[in-house]
Amino acid sequence: MSPATGASGLIRVEGSDEDAKTVFYTSLYRICERMVCLTEGDRYFSAYDGKVHTDTIPFYTDDWVWDTYHAAHPLRVLVESEKETDMLRSYIRMAEQLDPQWMPTFPEVTGDSRRMNCNHSGAAGTAYATGHKTHNGAIGVDINDKPLKNIPEIIDGLGYVSGVITTDGIDGCTPSVFFAHQPELHMSEEIWGDLADARLSFIAGGSHNAFENQEYETRDAIEKRYKVVSSLDEIPDKAKRVAYLPEKEEVCSIADGRGDFLPATTEYAIEFLDSHPENEKGFFLMVEGARIDKSCHNNDFGTAVLEVLDFDKAVEAAVRFAEKDGNTLVIITADHETGALSLRGKDNKSGKIKGLFASRGHTPIMVPLFAYGPMSLEFAGVQENTDVNHKIVNLLSSAAKDKRKKRD
Ligand SMILES: [Zn+2]
Repeated sequence: MSPATGASGLIRVEGSDEDAKTVFYTSLYRICERMVCLTEGDRYFSAYDGKVHTDTIPFYTDDWVWDTYHAAHPLRVLVESEKETDMLRSYIRMAEQLDPQWMPTFPEVTGDSRRMNCNHSGAAGTAYATGHKTHNGAIGVDINDKPLKNIPEIIDGLGYVSGVITTDGIDGCTPSVFFAHQPELHMSEEIWGDLADARLSFIAGGSHNAFENQEYETRDAIEKRYKVVSSLDEIPDKAKRVAYLPEKEEVCSIADGRGDFLPATTEYAIEFLDSHPENEKGFFLMVEGARIDKSCHNNDFGTAVLEVLDFDKAVEAAVRFAEKDGNTLVIITADHETGALSLRGKDNKSGKIKGLFASRGHTPIMVPLFAYGPMSLEFAGVQENTDVNHKIVNLLSSAAKDKRKKRD
């Protein structure tokens, strides 16, 4: 190996245990994403005001902040401090050029995209639920905040019934993209308000306490459309629309004693939707193991494992039904990865493996997608999250048409 030159020649690496190596090489990978200099001959074009500027200080942009703040910027302070200063000056110039003035949160060549490196669950969930990419933070709306139809709304009236189950609050991103239309994921009151118009026959998630904290009008509107219960036993035999909102202690983390809420409710919902009087062609059910993400944000490997195992039981309930039914497709995937989790140090004797996190946020790592049942091959290979929606909608729409034809 030839000796390192330039800035990398200034780096001496110490420590050789496996953890240190993992962290070092992960960081090295992360510094591949770095700001680029747009200046040529003391001139540069800025997308922040759409103008060409004359400036002797180089102008840098396109900073993949979520990665670079961990490793590239701190490293450059040490080995290329002048360049780092120019980059920070570029941030100030971008802020000055923006109208209104705003420090870019995620500067790209094309301007500030104001997002995390990876989207919140709102945008990722909206892509799955509606088939449209949107701005970060959106709940079921497009980039101009116009409502987009979600799967339950699209298939409503085609002979299907729908349901949503989550271990998160009902106003959490993933459940809410299947019924709400709001420009901002933190608009909890408005999202609860949208529940009254949901095209869902079965809703379960946190919590009854949160429901009771809503305005009277919101609670009244929800109760006009749904039978609101806080346990499965309270659901009347002939109920058509149920909102099962357990006490908040029952939808806490599995480590804090959530018990079998997720698998038991999944099993119940499948039965409920399968035998629903308005179900002529089938049903759509979204089940979220929301606390896998939350435990990975906390870099809590033990809880993440417990949450995945619990989610696996809900998957089992779905697959068992699909096996028996023979005409049900089960899709298992995620809206994003959290924590850049990697596994290392497998020990066959003890059966142990170590989990290492390199981030506390959502990452752009590709997520797996598993599909079981008829047409599952449609979901093979690499695909856009929006494609998953298009495929589900196409399958359900054409199945609805086919059966209609047969009936005619
Ligand atoms: Zn998250």
